[in-house]
Amino acid sequence: MQKNSLLKHIIYYLTNEVKTRMINFWYKVLSGNQKKITYRIYQLMLSIPHFESKWMNKIQDILIETGRIDLWFNQFNLPQYSIKHTIKQILIDQYKQNWQSALQNSAKGRHYSIFKNDLLLEKYFLTLRRPNYTYLVKFRTGNHYLPAEVGRWHNIPLSDRKCLLCNKNDIGDEMHYLLICLFSDKKDINTLKDMFTLIQI
Ligand SMILES: [Zn+2]
Repeated sequence: MQKNSLLKHIIYYLTNEVKTRMINFWYKVLSGNQKKITYRIYQLMLSIPHFESKWMNKIQDILIETGRIDLWFNQFNLPQYSIKHTIKQILIDQYKQNWQSALQNSAKGRHYSIFKNDLLLEKYFLTLRRPNYTYLVKFRTGNHYLPAEVGRWHNIPLSDRKCLLCNKNDIGDEMHYLLICLFSDKKDINTLKDMFTLIQI
């Protein structure tokens, strides 16, 4: 995973966490003891016409963003269950949708999106040893010297990035070498490491 991509996921996680906590606090104020000072101050803020509060604006923004502004309009009749988890799940689902859409629109991401369905640590990082999972990561993330990737570095159109090792006239991408290329049928190519080593030559 590239550093800026990792940073984006961390920022998303922290932002998501802040939004969820804000909603949780808002819910607790509304559903808590009405004699508490926080509840009374909140009531006062609502009762003043055109009262400007960055916190209240942010709560509304989060509810709009998650498609649950109905909770704001019914805030004195909120559901019994905690809405924290509902809002958190909506934020996660929205992020996943945006992330998958970005992958589909990215030259490198299209291939990666075939394997990557969720923002979770993959099990193979825990079950394989480093030298083995390194080749798998390279294959999944387009970090290799296959024609489809090398051609991208030189701005060659995708349709012209052919495999030169067989006569199939296919684009030399991951799927071609894994499933189609006759070159891959050679007995001495049993692993991704073998494939990468020979293609680099
Ligand atoms: Zn081929």
